[in-house]
Amino acid sequence: MIGMLKILEYNFKELQSEFVKNGFPAYKAKQVFEWIYQKAVTDFVKMTSISFADAKKLSEVFAPINLDYERTTGNTSVKFLLNTTDDFGIECVVIPSKNGNTLCVSTQVGCALKCGFCETGKGGFKRDLTSAEIVSQYLVARAEGYEIDRIVYMGMGEPLLNLDNVLKATSILNEETGANIGMRRFTVSTAGIIPGIKKLLEKGFKLNLAVSLHAANDGLRTKLMPINEKYRLNDLFVVLAEYREATSRRITLEYVLLDGVNDTDRDIEQLVALVKGTDFHINLIPYNTTSSSFKASKNMDRFFDKLEKAKVNVTKRRSEGGDISAACGMLFGKK
Ligand code: SF4
Repeated sequence: MIGMLKILEYNFKELQSEFVKNGFPAYKAKQVFEWIYQKAVTDFVKMTSISFADAKKLSEVFAPINLDYERTTGNTSVKFLLNTTDDFGIECVVIPSKNGNTLCVSTQVGCALKCGFCETGKGGFKRDLTSAEIVSQYLVARAEGYEIDRIVYMGMGEPLLNLDNVLKATSILNEETGANIGMRRFTVSTAGIIPGIKKLLEKGFKLNLAVSLHAANDGLRTKLMPINEKYRLNDLFVVLAEYREATSRRITLEYVLLDGVNDTDRDIEQLVALVKGTDFHINLIPYNTTSSSFKASKNMDRFFDKLEKAKVNVTKRRSEGGDISAACGMLFGKK
């Protein structure tokens, strides 16, 4: 069960000292770490460089890694539903592209932020995922044969409200001895939790940031994303500018286009004014129909052209995974 996977909570150094504490030489920790994160082999008995006697001893010290999941294959993406020991479902999605595979990872069961267009927020918040449960999503994708080139914390939940576990999982997946995913290949998606962005800065983690913007004025943004009441656009943009300056990492502003809500010429003007003087990148996202009353905008091309004309960095995101409820705002961990 996912909640018992204690070995997955250790980074390489911690695992070495656990091994030594339990009477194993440190080099065996390296072998085990490599088996888990490089080859996605999670059963000590199947680690051929570990003797049967050692495998038996290890399984007396560490709980077994049982990855319990179901797979749904779509036209382009593959979704995995992992079952937690306390019977929740958490979802992750592999999104292949010509530049390699991206894994979209969940960080909480549900979400407390209740953005109006999002399925995850509708079910409310249940609990934070442990770092082991976050890392497990990577191992499931690997166990199913997918090499993972990038991690985006963009699945269920608000990563900056579970930052300690997200950073622990990031440092584990960043280990050279293991998965060796470079820091530049991680992206944290946030609704704009200002203290979380500041904490990222304090801790020195240089991750790409994707901020769910979805409106360029406080009134509309608060209607779509109630958290904007607490963290207003002006304050958010001050902190984003600091982050960009201190880390040189790319800042993307996600903007889902909703018919008649945030897709008018006035919205374009406000958006241009908001990003003036920054090099932030705007990513326009087609809305995936969910159970909400919102509809996808027909104005995507017009919106895009006008932003380009105003010399704003802008791209249109292809919406992947809509056929298996794996696209942005559609993950809800239904079991
Ligand atoms: S869009 Fe993100 S932050 Fe908003 S409710 Fe959904 S999961 Fe939470």
